[in-house]
Amino acid sequence: MKQKRYFLSESELPKQWYNLQADMPKKPQPMLSAKTKEPITVDELAKLISREAASQELNMTDRWIDIPEPVMEMYRYYRSTPLVRAYGLEDALGTPAHIYFKNESVSPVGSHKLNSALPQAYYCKQEGATNITTETGAGQWGTALSYASKVFGLECAVYQVKISYNQKPYRRSVMQAFGAQVTPSPSMSTRAGKDILTLYPNHQGSLGTAISEAVELALTTPNCKYALGSVMGHVSLHQTIIGLEAELQMQKAGEYPDVVIGCFGGGSNFSGIAFPFMRHNILDGKKTRFVAAEPESCPKLTRGKFCYDYGDESGYTPLMPMFSLGHKFCPPNIHAGGLRYHGAGVIISQLLKDGLMEAVDMSQLKTFEAGLLFAKTEGIIPAPESCHAIAAAIDEANRCKENGESKVILFNLSGHGLMDMTAYDQYLSGSLTNYSISDEDINKNIEQIK
Ligand SMILES: *Cc1c(COP(=O)(O)O)cnc(C)c1O
Repeated sequence: MKQKRYFLSESELPKQWYNLQADMPKKPQPMLSAKTKEPITVDELAKLISREAASQELNMTDRWIDIPEPVMEMYRYYRSTPLVRAYGLEDALGTPAHIYFKNESVSPVGSHKLNSALPQAYYCKQEGATNITTETGAGQWGTALSYASKVFGLECAVYQVKISYNQKPYRRSVMQAFGAQVTPSPSMSTRAGKDILTLYPNHQGSLGTAISEAVELALTTPNCKYALGSVMGHVSLHQTIIGLEAELQMQKAGEYPDVVIGCFGGGSNFSGIAFPFMRHNILDGKKTRFVAAEPESCPKLTRGKFCYDYGDESGYTPLMPMFSLGHKFCPPNIHAGGLRYHGAGVIISQLLKDGLMEAVDMSQLKTFEAGLLFAKTEGIIPAPESCHAIAAAIDEANRCKENGESKVILFNLSGHGLMDMTAYDQYLSGSLTNYSISDEDINKNIEQIK
């Protein structure tokens, strides 16, 4: 099997993250306080998340932000991650395109999520927090934050979406193995959870609900901070380590991408691979295309509405200007749990609106077909989320074949799927289905946005 991998030496590792907000031609519109409807301030955000993360969130001026040395030390355990030329996949497709992927699945927790969990836990500890709390859908973010909390000496409480708590017991065990306390959400331990369970006793949970619970816990517990795994600008910032490395690794390969692809849940891994290359479109006139691949069952980028909406079901978060399906939207229970979020980040939403990036949606069956071809040709079982990026990359490569173009395609492999074999089992036994959703269902929820 032909494969070529590119790494960086320790001294070549980027020591700063890239803040796209400094270079955006149109800055994102401000997030608004849910109470006052005034633009949110660092002070207000810092009640919920670490002050450093809050100031990164609203930083529109500094292009480069230093990675703290204790975080660099942890990055060096697993970074650089490999950039791989996917010859096996190219041969199987018979495409003249050159396909590269950045393999974030080699992190200790199996996904890109640790890149942001480490700095967030570090900042909380530095600022005197003792506890940290969050939500998790499929479990990857909860796993990453559980481990990062252990590393920096914080107690971690995770609200896990109930359906995945029950369907994916091993994810829960992994979080518990790292010492986290895991609660299925909605739970009776918060007012938000009680309210939802009173109305819907059999509620199976959603990310929006779990966020409400974690936010409430953070706001009502002394020395407890909340941390997010996606959607927010500071999370995208931390993930730019992916694209900054990839840029240097592509130089070693002597190539520059024509198309950059990432799967899309809240936008963190897509931002991570895309933003460092996007700066060359904005500053140096490069013409790279950026494609976010979302599931057809949760199509906020391709069919959502740009508006002010909450990030959680109960409306505890600031109001964010974003592409959204409505904060009450409860997506079908597809296996790519990490992509089942109703909205996109504020930065991403502005970029999409301004035509600096594109989005495509993918059916569930198509993504598993792509994932299995990737597994057979590259030897890695991809996370169901990552399969969306692979499917989009294959579409691009097939178009190159039709048109006889040898473009350079780069996609992010956000995680491995070794904890998701139930999903592959179901695909292989023919019991998986597609979940497209009707315009009525989409409009019903969007109309509820105030
Ligand atoms: C969480 C997750 C995603 C989706 O989240 P983004 O913030 O959109 O990146 C994608 N892939 C994997 C492996 C994940 O764990």
